[in-house]
Amino acid sequence: MVLLECPNCGARNVAEFRYGGELKPRPAQPMAGSEESWVDFVFMKQNKLGLQAEWWYHRAGCGIWFMAERHTKSNQVVKTYRWQPAEKAS
Ligand SMILES: [Zn+2]
Repeated sequence: MVLLECPNCGARNVAEFRYGGELKPRPAQPMAGSEESWVDFVFMKQNKLGLQAEWWYHRAGCGIWFMAERHTKSNQVVKTYRWQPAEKAS
């Protein structure tokens, strides 16, 4: 059984979770972007080899979205944590 560590509930069977995709920065000015830039943001994946920050949802548990850093080749999850927005420079 593969376990995934929910930051709220602890280690659970990975079947309780839903994969939400890789972490990608949102466009800085969404309304100024072109249609092509939105297609890239929504549908295009980096498909990188190595550690990748990903969204996961604990659908059969506490219902939170959180981040997991997973190696895409070994499938090993290095850490999980709650997402925190980056501080904006003022
Ligand atoms: Zn949970």
